[in-house]
Amino acid sequence: MFRSVMTLGHLRGIRIEIHASWLIIFALLMVTLTTGLRSEYADWSFSQAVLTALFTSIAFFASIVAHEMGHSLVAIRRGVPVRAITLFIFGGVAQLDKDSESAVDEFWIAIAGPAVSFVLAFGFAALSSAATSEPWAVGLGWLAVINFMVALFNLIPGFPLDGGRVFRALVWKATGDAGKGVRAAVAGGRLVAYGLFALGLWRLLVEGNFVGGFWLMLLAWFLLNMAEGHGQSFSLQQQLSGTRARELAVADVPRVSPSTTVDEWIHTRVLPEGQRAYMVEEGDRTLGLVSLSDTSALDRARWAEVRVEELMTPIGNVVHVTPETDATEVLATLTEHNLNQLPVIEGERVVGWIDRERLLRTVKLHMELKA
Ligand SMILES: [Zn+2]
Repeated sequence: MFRSVMTLGHLRGIRIEIHASWLIIFALLMVTLTTGLRSEYADWSFSQAVLTALFTSIAFFASIVAHEMGHSLVAIRRGVPVRAITLFIFGGVAQLDKDSESAVDEFWIAIAGPAVSFVLAFGFAALSSAATSEPWAVGLGWLAVINFMVALFNLIPGFPLDGGRVFRALVWKATGDAGKGVRAAVAGGRLVAYGLFALGLWRLLVEGNFVGGFWLMLLAWFLLNMAEGHGQSFSLQQQLSGTRARELAVADVPRVSPSTTVDEWIHTRVLPEGQRAYMVEEGDRTLGLVSLSDTSALDRARWAEVRVEELMTPIGNVVHVTPETDATEVLATLTEHNLNQLPVIEGERVVGWIDRERLLRTVKLHMELKA
């Protein structure tokens, strides 16, 4: 099976992975560099140009990993776990497991990436001026320039760029309000995206540069989505913080007895009630959870003979939360396991039921009330 993400290896416990879209960038970079070098340095042999382009592309790739490692190592030192570093078409991203808890943490985590890129830029520049052969000097010089540009571009003060996070941290520190910081960084991100979009449109329509213009517009669209996404997930977290699972759960848990056949369960419960999952219970005892997706492997002809207890996930393996679980963790659990419903279990007893759609409706109501 083709997977869109490939794991390269682990560095200090952090998984380094490449998204398939990165290969497009790598190929583009190789072609652009090779043709560029060929036309500028006519006396180079073809293999000299290709090898220089190859070395430069790989070193550029390593530079991006180093930039993300900068963010990651500072994050880990400040108690924010990092799951993986993913390289994709627009660069790299370090997947932090949670948001920083203070403006100071946020600032140092965000600034660490561009700081690494600046150091790399000066390092490559020094190596380039010390190089004795022209291909080395040219390749290292290009790496110095590109790392410098990566650092500068990332310092633009808008989400999702590092500069947006730095900006957020500064506003957060100055006002003491994390939300104000986020709103400022989202606004900055929007401005950057519109600016890039306009520039792309200009390139496309006025300069007739289709590839360059289209590329910029695509980048702008991507940045805009990321900026808005950041804002939304933050306000969702704000709305949910302090709320416990028991406040989000309904007491009315859908239950079915273990001896019910799948056919009966589907036709007398699932369809009329519009519920996807049920707790399988015998008297006071909870045996497990059966959901519509459990039937996908079952031949329809056998619906009348198979009982729900044969299909269910035994209670010991059911993903659940306790009444005291924080709402943001509830949401994270739903997302992580790709679930639509979640039982709330206290001790051995199922005390409540959380439904994803209902949860999102509740959040919307909270937001309307606050607005
Ligand atoms: Zn960065």
